[in-house]
Amino acid sequence: LLSPEGTLGVTIFEEMTTLALSTGAINLGQGFPDEDGPAEIKAAAQSAIAAGANQYAPGKGVPALREAIASHQQRFYGLNPDPDTEVLVTTGATEAIAATLLAFIQPGDEVLTFEPFYDSYGAIIGMAGAKHVTAPLLAPDFLPDLAMLESSFSTRTRVVLLNNPHNPTGAVFPESVLSMIVELAAKYGAIIVSDEVYEHLTFGVPHLPITSLPGAAERTITISSAGKTFSFTGWKIGWLSGPAHLVAAVRTVKQFLTYSSGTPFQSAIAVGLGLPDEFYTGIADQLRRKRDILAQGLRAAGFGVYNPSGTYFINVDTAPLGIRDSVDLARRLPGLVGVAAIPVPVFCHPEGAERTRSLLRFAFCKKTGVLQEAAERLATLK
Ligand code: PMP
Ligand code: GLN
Repeated sequence: LLSPEGTLGVTIFEEMTTLALSTGAINLGQGFPDEDGPAEIKAAAQSAIAAGANQYAPGKGVPALREAIASHQQRFYGLNPDPDTEVLVTTGATEAIAATLLAFIQPGDEVLTFEPFYDSYGAIIGMAGAKHVTAPLLAPDFLPDLAMLESSFSTRTRVVLLNNPHNPTGAVFPESVLSMIVELAAKYGAIIVSDEVYEHLTFGVPHLPITSLPGAAERTITISSAGKTFSFTGWKIGWLSGPAHLVAAVRTVKQFLTYSSGTPFQSAIAVGLGLPDEFYTGIADQLRRKRDILAQGLRAAGFGVYNPSGTYFINVDTAPLGIRDSVDLARRLPGLVGVAAIPVPVFCHPEGAERTRSLLRFAFCKKTGVLQEAAERLATLK
């Protein structure tokens, strides 16, 4: 399972970024912005380091950040988590996902995710010895078929793990889908774990935290991260919130994964969460313009384009270009035209991989000129 040749192997992000670097290709694979976030957040990290905030933070996170997380949830969603007992700071959303799943699942339990699913979900579910059940998201909207969703639940479903807005498809789940998830989770006694790292990156549609729906809060852990909202993916500051007894269980696990997370970065992200509303609308507007530029370029290059409602990512169908296998194309694309992308089948089990065989994911969190250059290079594929 754990060797480089084993089931887990090397992540697709590592593989494609390494390939982009070695070929000098434009990297529209791994989702990270090519411009840093706000200067005041960087300055806050530098001041925290200069002021000596360089030793272990409290395990649950520095108080200023936990309070800022609670205020942010109040400001945007009218939620009131207690910063002391209902919020936990983590080393990125990645640790939040791992600690949450390890806290709640036992070997033999079932964990339900949508498919395609973010790669770390499958890895952690496997490490915990649980069974990974999936419900497909179907093109063109990449929303679940509700009957298929219902049939994916069972009395062994311990956790339903969703990602909204959704990586890799860019879908933003409407209230009807979220309500159905809450209803089914309640019926089968499952915990809801909602990965909302792209909460502020939606384009003209609102983000609705599933925990705000009736009947959800008592069984929901919500995960987010500073990486995407503030364009500091390398700082690895994430967090989760939920009812005190669930957060306490996750905190118990976190103690033995990382114990605590980067002290000066936590203070700086507390400053970021306090930025005015215009910052948040600004990042979504900027990203929407980038999405439109890349979507237009990809259409001109002959791909079938699925327009995303959120996230950093556009999915395209390579079939109109006569290319059926996106995994093979992704491996050849950097050498062929100098652009790297991520094949969607790697986020799937075999049946889903067959369904998404010709889908390729491009990240558009890049400078406009970079997106235009990538589109021109891709146009030479035709
Ligand atoms: N969940 C999803 C859906 C992601 O796309 C990512 C990548 N940003 C993560 C979790 C991991 O977030 P972090 O970098 O904060 O660990
Ligand atoms: N979340 C990023 C993506 O989907 C990558 C994060 C990582 O490299 N693990 O591209």
